[in-house]
Amino acid sequence: MPEGPEVECVRRSLKTIVGRKIQRIILTEFSQKYQKYQNKQIQFDQFNGHQIDEIERIGKFLIFKFDKKEVILNHLGMSGNWLLLKKKDQILPPHPKVLIDFDTLPNVVFYDMRNFGQFKIYENYNSVLQHHPIRKMGIDGLLDAFPLDEFLLRINKKNYANREIGSVLLDQKLVAGIGNIYKSESLALANINPMRLVRSLTNKERSRLGYAISKTLHKAVKYMGSTFDSFRTPDGGEGSAQNWHKVYGKKGGKCSNCGSEIRRVVQNKRSSFYCPKCQL
Ligand SMILES: [Zn+2]
Repeated sequence: MPEGPEVECVRRSLKTIVGRKIQRIILTEFSQKYQKYQNKQIQFDQFNGHQIDEIERIGKFLIFKFDKKEVILNHLGMSGNWLLLKKKDQILPPHPKVLIDFDTLPNVVFYDMRNFGQFKIYENYNSVLQHHPIRKMGIDGLLDAFPLDEFLLRINKKNYANREIGSVLLDQKLVAGIGNIYKSESLALANINPMRLVRSLTNKERSRLGYAISKTLHKAVKYMGSTFDSFRTPDGGEGSAQNWHKVYGKKGGKCSNCGSEIRRVVQNKRSSFYCPKCQL
């Protein structure tokens, strides 16, 4: 599943469509097999002839803003993504759902094999901010200056105290944009075992974790995200963040620091990977 850094890479790659005039947004014939796209064409038609002014990212969501007040909220889900179509008559990727034709190339298509992607149209930007998951979203882990004080305030909340940090880090109300990969990597960088209860973390460890999250997420953007199965940038490129992962997906492999065997533990149905010797 794309996490904050991958969504940010998608956003940056889509900059090429900002400032361009939409001829038509087309829900593909293929999309009509799925209920969530049925009878929605008319809602998308209101953007025809309008220009995309900005594409913003909040956590793992993209918000398309236009030269009109309505906005489109998009979540990539498990496997959704955008692809720039640089040639006329370019063959569409499998499972195309939404196509945006502009007055000049490139066009873009949203494709989504597992069909967990989402589109929602809101009457204005403020109403999207009131949208349930966004309203309660925590610190954006990709802010240029990570707000450590706010992170400490949030992680010190009572409801986290008796939970394992490996589970807590997936709560988007704490830090938005962290998913399974960067959760394990942030904990590895901070030398903290994912099974530690939050209340057992010292102030020093909490601060170290905050910095580790920020560093890990920013580094992932720099390397254009992690490509494991389906993730590609809209240019069709692969990310290379997986090349510096310390623990994620490496169960049974050796820790690059101490040579111990990397372990995997399931927390709240999600995997966490860690080195039992380096992460205490
Ligand atoms: Zn180690």
